[in-house]
Amino acid sequence: MSLPDKPSKRSGQGQFSRPDRALAQLSESPFGDPGADGWPHFHEQLSLCGLQPLRPTGLDILQVNVGYVCNQTCAHCHVDAGPDRRERMIPEIFGEVQRVLNAARPHTLDLTGGAPEMNPEFVPFIESVRAEHGPDVLDIIVRSNLTILESNDRYRALVPWFAEHKIHVVSSLPSTHARATDRQRGEGVFGASIRALKALNAVGYGEAGSGLVLDLVHNPTGAFLPGDNAALESRFKQELAQQHDIVFNNLLTITNLPISRYLDFLVASGNYEDYMETLIEAFNPAAAGGVMCRNTLSVRWDGVLYDCDFNQMLDLPIRHNIRHIRDWAAEVNDRDIAVHNHCYGCTAGAGSSCSGTIV
Ligand code: SF4
Ligand code: SF4
Repeated sequence: MSLPDKPSKRSGQGQFSRPDRALAQLSESPFGDPGADGWPHFHEQLSLCGLQPLRPTGLDILQVNVGYVCNQTCAHCHVDAGPDRRERMIPEIFGEVQRVLNAARPHTLDLTGGAPEMNPEFVPFIESVRAEHGPDVLDIIVRSNLTILESNDRYRALVPWFAEHKIHVVSSLPSTHARATDRQRGEGVFGASIRALKALNAVGYGEAGSGLVLDLVHNPTGAFLPGDNAALESRFKQELAQQHDIVFNNLLTITNLPISRYLDFLVASGNYEDYMETLIEAFNPAAAGGVMCRNTLSVRWDGVLYDCDFNQMLDLPIRHNIRHIRDWAAEVNDRDIAVHNHCYGCTAGAGSSCSGTIV
């Protein structure tokens, strides 16, 4: 079953936009009581492979969600982002993020949204961070949806600015075919994405030796797991080069997690049980050991801390008495990670993270 042509609801209006409803759905039968028949809970699987409680290994990646405002309303969006959202990070919180970067020195700052470019503080914040942390010590990732870079001249000007500041661009392109991409991400998205990719290539992105990294993200366009990463990357490279003269560095394959708009789709289409069973049957202990929450801290637009972007959407706070970035201290690493049954999406098969497969 494929995703619908258009999201059925405005952002924030889906049944599982509410974290309590999503968590109730993810808790109910056929998940059994611990130790009883039924699907095993995720924490039981972790116990069986000696990983419960799951603990951080350090802070290598600070992932910052600068707001839920987006120019798109994709059918699978786990953030439930869209043009009608109002949540956005304010300068005071950006200042706290910078304080933590200076103190913790993670190797990566991963900026996400929504469309992060739409936050008015986006440019001054990155310029300030880059002035203190050069590209040799800090990889600054911007998760750009591509179409924003084609929406008007103000955003078009970001392409050479990205190159100047050595920004690592990571962008979704679920398919090399217009119909499948537009079905998931909206009418006309594929064409605008191709134009933006050409603009990025024109300033050196994706070219060997340029130092300008352009990665694409593929996530399935229906209720199934991603295919083999290496085979998909090879096909994407070949088809984008032949059909559009586009180059890029890496294809990151990401499993759709059963939360928010994608959970709405799974339940409404009758695919929920089959999809969860697929994830549970494909549980991979090696992937579980490398899940991204072990070396990442996620910051919500208002400064609240989470183990990952998915826990942020489910409002599962970190298990520590420090809960806000203004209070951050290194002791935050000393905590148990909050897991629930959506985590099966990170541990199926080769695993899934914001950097692609895990094993
Ligand atoms: S572009 Fe990204 S953040 Fe925006 S609606 Fe689509 S998936 Fe969500
Ligand atoms: S959903 Fe978040 S907390 Fe759960 S395994 Fe994945 S990264 Fe970790």
